[in-house]
Amino acid sequence: MIEKREFYIDGAWVAPAITRDHSVIDPSTEDACAVISLGSEADTNAAVAAAKRALPGWKATPPAERLAYVEKILDIYQARAQEMAEAMSLEMGAPIDLAAANQVGAGAWHIANFITAAKEIDWVRPLGDGTKGAMIALEPVGVVGLITPWNWPMNQVTLKVVPALIAGCTMVLKPSEEAPLSSLLFAEMLHEAGVPAGVFNLVNGDGVGVGSQLSAHPDVEMISFTGSTRAGKAISKAAAETLKRVCLELGGKGANLVFADADDKAVARGVRHCFQNSGQSCNAPTRMLVERSYYETALQIAQVEAEKTRVGNPREHGKHIGPVINKAQYDKIQGLIEAGISEGARLLAGGPGRPEGLNRGYYVRPTVFADCTPDMTVIREEIFGPVLSIMPFDTEEEAIALANDTPYGLTNYVQSQDGARRNRLARALRSGMVEMNGESRGAGAPFGGVGASGRAREGGHWGIEEFCDVKSISGWAE
Ligand code: NAD
Repeated sequence: MIEKREFYIDGAWVAPAITRDHSVIDPSTEDACAVISLGSEADTNAAVAAAKRALPGWKATPPAERLAYVEKILDIYQARAQEMAEAMSLEMGAPIDLAAANQVGAGAWHIANFITAAKEIDWVRPLGDGTKGAMIALEPVGVVGLITPWNWPMNQVTLKVVPALIAGCTMVLKPSEEAPLSSLLFAEMLHEAGVPAGVFNLVNGDGVGVGSQLSAHPDVEMISFTGSTRAGKAISKAAAETLKRVCLELGGKGANLVFADADDKAVARGVRHCFQNSGQSCNAPTRMLVERSYYETALQIAQVEAEKTRVGNPREHGKHIGPVINKAQYDKIQGLIEAGISEGARLLAGGPGRPEGLNRGYYVRPTVFADCTPDMTVIREEIFGPVLSIMPFDTEEEAIALANDTPYGLTNYVQSQDGARRNRLARALRSGMVEMNGESRGAGAPFGGVGASGRAREGGHWGIEEFCDVKSISGWAE
């Protein structure tokens, strides 16, 4: 059993103020694999105080020196990639190859993109309107609280910690209590890189405890949060009294618009994307909308693809999918699959219960529903499991209306060979991101949504600027 009861505060590993053990469950066995501590108010206060003390020094450190620490962190992160992959696979059940390539890889990619973006930032620059001495300065927001979920642990931690470091903020990270092991390892990496004491602090805890304490803390200037829409609202309310900046990356219910002229790999690609990471991605294309003339063909492809999706042990190599994170999510997904059936969606593949041969672990059958209608629960709710819901459309206008008929707005997807149509749709879809024909976002592209998906923008220079205040200066001496 791994024992990691300490927090990282002021450059050292310290015992919690009050003992409160918490078991980390390996979702592939349902057994405890590690024990951590849940912090209390005294731990939160100690971490915030350390960050506050470290702020003046870190803020005054030249940007190039701050960047040198980040470059060192990237080197260490890459050198310890295998350990990181194993930590994530254990804590949240990602198959080891997905953990190594995609989960660890996403973190490395974000850090590298932030390094590129940071080199291009002019921290103090002319306003540009020609007024003599009119300047713009980007300044760190101050002490920031970072609260992350369990589904892509290092993706989300690097999207917050690294830009905060580059911007000159000091911070307290509260990773998900479901998947804290990777963040504890990341803290070791920052220590190894020599990040000065107090700049980065980590306190484990739950949402009602450390999460709410950070959100309401008078010395925390900003909360950067990724997680559920429910928690995003709670954090916004808790942060209101102290008028913090709150940046939210929340849930999603992405539509994948497949036109009859889509490339012949589009449907299978969409199914695989929906099931990747066992469907636990906020930007998963979980609603597939298919032009009616191509509908029956698409259903056949989707059924075959779902039936050949292997579900299995995360410790094994291969392209299979693993379990979902915990019993609560497993039960929620089972309930939503039952709702799909009882509300009249046509079950094409999968269904309730565990896949054959898997009696233990939170494994879900890759499930596809056809003939869904806009009011069905499987179309409206974020499922966060390997469940795809398909419905037909007749016209481009109808497809847009169906895609936009959701409170969420993170990523929508378009599959069509018609360039003019793709460009129209890219503008008409209500979301922070639109990805077309399987092309992934470019390096440093901002990640974020609109509406119930939150309005943060993470990654690249946008991600760094979220941790900055813009100061307007006049009378600057040339
Ligand atoms: P969650 O909201 O339950 O937990 C996320 C984090 O918030 C955890 O660290 C948790 O301890 C903390 N938390 C919970 N309640 C809190 C509160 N009241 N105050 C402060 N902190 C609180 O979400 P989850 O179940 O861990 O993650 C899944 C959700 O995250 C899904 O809805 C998914 O769509 C969303 N998500 C969004 C993005 C994005 O970038 N938009 C990325 C990944 C996940």
